[in-house]
Amino acid sequence: MSDPFQKALHATLPMLKKIQHGIKPAPKGSTAALKSLRDAALAKRRITKPAPQSTSGTGATTESRLPAKPAPQNTPGTGVATESRSAAKLPPASRPSAPSGGGRWESLRAEVLACVKCPHLVSSRTQVVFGVGNPAAELLFVGEAPGADEDELGEPFVGMAGQLLTKIIQAMGFERSDIFIANVLKCRPDMPPGKSGNRKPKPAEMATCLPWLGEQIALIKPRVIVALGATATEGLLGETSPLRDLRGRWLEFQGIPVMVTYHPAYLLRNQSLSEKRKVWEDMLLVLEKLEKKITAKQRAFFTKPAA
Ligand code: SF4
Repeated sequence: MSDPFQKALHATLPMLKKIQHGIKPAPKGSTAALKSLRDAALAKRRITKPAPQSTSGTGATTESRLPAKPAPQNTPGTGVATESRSAAKLPPASRPSAPSGGGRWESLRAEVLACVKCPHLVSSRTQVVFGVGNPAAELLFVGEAPGADEDELGEPFVGMAGQLLTKIIQAMGFERSDIFIANVLKCRPDMPPGKSGNRKPKPAEMATCLPWLGEQIALIKPRVIVALGATATEGLLGETSPLRDLRGRWLEFQGIPVMVTYHPAYLLRNQSLSEKRKVWEDMLLVLEKLEKKITAKQRAFFTKPAA
């Protein structure tokens, strides 16, 4: 007992025995109860734990594969948000609202907006008109070039002809935001000093700009392209035959079916029912190609004057 540690231990032994007697065994079944509580907590955690977010196309979770609503795209210089087709409005067989190629769409937009390949157009333009709508659209409308309104607002087809195009699109059962609209030439053709109005783009100007549209088409992968008017048809396809010979039959760009039809501006100049019907018949062919349901009412548009 000379060791102070042994002495201390000896002194505490009675107390330790009392404590030992005072400790009651765990009630029968409590271990199992604790285990089931822990299992329940773990199960709850598994349920409430958020699903992993996949940022790439591979290994995507069910949630991440759902078509995500893309951020609204601002048309450059206008502050106008052009929202792509929302998931709620998508028909069953429709496509996602994001272009293929990942971030290439936005980098392409940045490159096009900064393009200076045509110095004479760069010095006269207000802004480059990239295009507007759903970058994963199944239907692409192609016009020739921005006019004064488009140059100012940064969006294609916003003048009177654009409003008529919007009506055609809606008669087909789409909204402007469902489809994509672009021009072959992305800068407004310059006008001689002191002259107002718009001029036709030259073939060389369209040829210089066409690769931008080509890349847009490669990313959008539309199922059908509609070329609006003779100039757009020439710029896109190199076809210079009269429009009356080209419209109403299928041509092709990069393997994609192209329907040629009259420019809406032509319909503003020539408001006869027969010309409107021709454009409408072209659009019916487009709807058929897209396998859209066409109502009897739609089929009958422009067959007789509205009552
Ligand atoms: S017209 Fe096309 S190629 Fe020419 S500067 Fe504009 S964006 Fe570039």
